Amino acid sequence: MELPIQTISYPDADKHKVKISILRLDLIHPLVNGNKWFKLKYNLQAAINNSSDGIIQLDLSQPVNISPSQIKILTFGGAYSNHIYATAAAGNLFNIPTIGMIRGEENSPLNPTLEFAQAQGMELFYLSREAYKQRNSITLHQELKAKFGNIYIIPEGGCNQNGVRGCTEILNLVHDYQAFDVICVACGTGTTLAGIILSLYQNQRVIGFPVLKGGEFLKPEITKLINQYLATNLPLPGDRSVNWDLVCDYHFGGYARINKNLLTFKQEFERLTVIESGIKSGMELDYIYTSKMFYGVVDLIKQGYFPNCRLLLVHTGGLQGNKGMKQKLSKIL
Ligand SMILES: *Cc1c(COP(=O)(O)O)cnc(C)c1O
Repeated sequence: MELPIQTISYPDADKHKVKISILRLDLIHPLVNGNKWFKLKYNLQAAINNSSDGIIQLDLSQPVNISPSQIKILTFGGAYSNHIYATAAAGNLFNIPTIGMIRGEENSPLNPTLEFAQAQGMELFYLSREAYKQRNSITLHQELKAKFGNIYIIPEGGCNQNGVRGCTEILNLVHDYQAFDVICVACGTGTTLAGIILSLYQNQRVIGFPVLKGGEFLKPEITKLINQYLATNLPLPGDRSVNWDLVCDYHFGGYARINKNLLTFKQEFERLTVIESGIKSGMELDYIYTSKMFYGVVDLIKQGYFPNCRLLLVHTGGLQGNKGMKQKLSKIL
């Protein structure tokens, strides 16, 4: 599989001699897309094989019906979560039953994300915001195992070593990826960023754009993910050029917070994006992650932050969330 790349022409970039290519992970599959597939891949394999290196290798383009022995996947997420959406769809595709532990109260009718998840066969359960804080605790996991039987637990957002491992494969699937100087990606947990960092070649750099307020807190967490990975024997593409940074100024007030500036930018960018190569469909950004990262990148380009650079911007998908966000926006605006 070679991943789709789109080269765009953007006025500010042309002025500063910056070349922008976009890695369209939003196009890899209609339902299981973006970075979420990469974070799920080895977790699903581990659930089926009892090890991520087992005999069954999962391929999104050739979903096999594997009918695993009674195992269910259980995972955690917010009510609009891209991870919940992708896990439900992947479970349906590969015939693995899924359970979603959702943060907060049950609402009726279900929002578009949860309605989809349920339609894919995911069983939904709700944890109060207080109880949800225990999502990584061993005690809660033991209780869940006692309740649901044979389950494989994937942490929120697919944030574990299997998630990192899948993300180390992203750049390798990009044609001529060593030609890019700087790779930019939006960060929630930083799992995707960690995987990309672990697949770099010399002279390449990755910049992460946290969408949460106070994103500096991710630095030690990402460092930990990287060091844990380096301590394993898992595959390491690239040449261990661990060259990365976080730019924490483009959170727009915090997770899922947006303002008029961001909305205007998103519309402008989608309109101005001139399609130069390959991909025929226009581009949409999501509100939560990619709009903020693209806004940050364009702002930095204007400041001359990337002179004569070839940039690869990772479109991590997340477009399913726009439905729910538009419903919310119509109430505020
Ligand atoms: C989940 C998500 C991210 C964040 O990925 P992390 O690995 O948690 O940093 C970025 N973009 C989109 C569209 C996402 O859905």
